Amino acid sequence: MRRLVLPRIASAALIIAALLLTAVGTGSAQPLLDDATLSQAASLRDEARSSELAYEILESLTTEVGPRMAGSSGDERAVAWAQAKFEQLGFDRVTLEPVTFPAWRRGRETARVVAPFPQPLVVTALGGSIATDGELHAPVAHFATLDELAAIPDGSLDGQIVFISNRMKRFRDGAGYGQAVAARSSGAVTAAKKGASAILIRSIGTDQDRLPHTGLMSYALDVRRIPAAALSNPDADLLANMVKRGRPVEVALELGSYWEGDYTSYNVIGDIVGSTQPEEYVLIGGHLDSWDLGTGAIDDGAGCAITMAAGALIGRLDAAPRRTIRVVLYANEEQGLHGARAYRQAHATEMDRHIIGAESDFGAGPIYRFSSRVKPSALGLIDQLTQVLSPLGVVRGDNNASGGPDLIPMRQAGMAVATLHQDGTDYFDYHHTANDTLDKVNPEHLAQNVAAYTVFAFLSAMAPGDFGTRLGLENADD
Ligand SMILES: [Zn+2]
Repeated sequence: MRRLVLPRIASAALIIAALLLTAVGTGSAQPLLDDATLSQAASLRDEARSSELAYEILESLTTEVGPRMAGSSGDERAVAWAQAKFEQLGFDRVTLEPVTFPAWRRGRETARVVAPFPQPLVVTALGGSIATDGELHAPVAHFATLDELAAIPDGSLDGQIVFISNRMKRFRDGAGYGQAVAARSSGAVTAAKKGASAILIRSIGTDQDRLPHTGLMSYALDVRRIPAAALSNPDADLLANMVKRGRPVEVALELGSYWEGDYTSYNVIGDIVGSTQPEEYVLIGGHLDSWDLGTGAIDDGAGCAITMAAGALIGRLDAAPRRTIRVVLYANEEQGLHGARAYRQAHATEMDRHIIGAESDFGAGPIYRFSSRVKPSALGLIDQLTQVLSPLGVVRGDNNASGGPDLIPMRQAGMAVATLHQDGTDYFDYHHTANDTLDKVNPEHLAQNVAAYTVFAFLSAMAPGDFGTRLGLENADD
């Protein structure tokens, strides 16, 4: 710092200026929402809580579209459905923004134990897997965890099929997923380095249904590609019991999945245009794509329905809120946040006008906590939002929110975010399986989510000041 020599009076002025700056830094200078706006939000909350709109939207999506894996015919029908639904719900502006990505196709998928106790196994290809060359016969090499596999010498498996049996643990906040999912995402690369011909994993899921969980896996450019599939949890138990007997276990696996060129889908965007600051956005939404095995009710039809309903209910007010409420249904989240990245690229120069955002992508369980990632001087606003959320059973969380998977690129670009944490105790029983269907969604819980998103979006759109979004924070927080 440069040393300044100042006369006495100037230095007194400097002290006063420093005190004012301190006041800004601790938040006392940030204006707050007025009582009339807070009570309007409370009325909206109560109306949303008894509304069936989100359930009707979700019923429509799962019935009229169903599975909508990125790049499939269901994807195309989902885009048309979303555009029509936004219009029907009275959104002021509906926009399609193109998103291009490689398309992956699922083919035939079978597995069976050949020896010592022949019987069928229930499997599904992991998203992105290549095919086997016909039916692959090989002995099984069992590892309890990915770390155990990583620890053996490279090249030591000689064409065997790796089987990783780690079991995902159940938590309210889904913390078990992060601990278990590496076996799915990077297992094939590790197994290939060891010389394996394919990999089978226990499904990344908490259920005991005989239904396998799919989900994205990945390859590395410099490592041989091998086919990858998930066993249902009961089949993983069965295979582990055979291995335990100490005799060689031979499995036959056939996968027909493949990559097929590029496909262009769309982010579908519905706006409730703001009254006085229409160029500023409160960003809510979910992802429109699903995996192909179920109807994508919880992942992520629920998130789409919750945020579309929240936007629509706010859109029915006599006067629009100050800022625009933007609901984005992102294309292809499941295979690598393609829609989210495209959104950020398309809106890079106006990211500073995205004042805050939250994505709903964790099913339809009730919201129990509200966390933020805002500048310190906006925490008073967050406290006000929490007060209106609290009759829904929502408590204040920390100021380190992620915002949801599709908001990662925007958060990295400097956008303030919030997370409305849902109870995900049973989410991973159904996640990415054929069991992800409408009957798993509790209509009352869904409406509670809509009430919370309505409060969040409305009050954020009305808030004086801002939440700290700025441009140029690339990777500052990751
Ligand atoms: Zn999802």
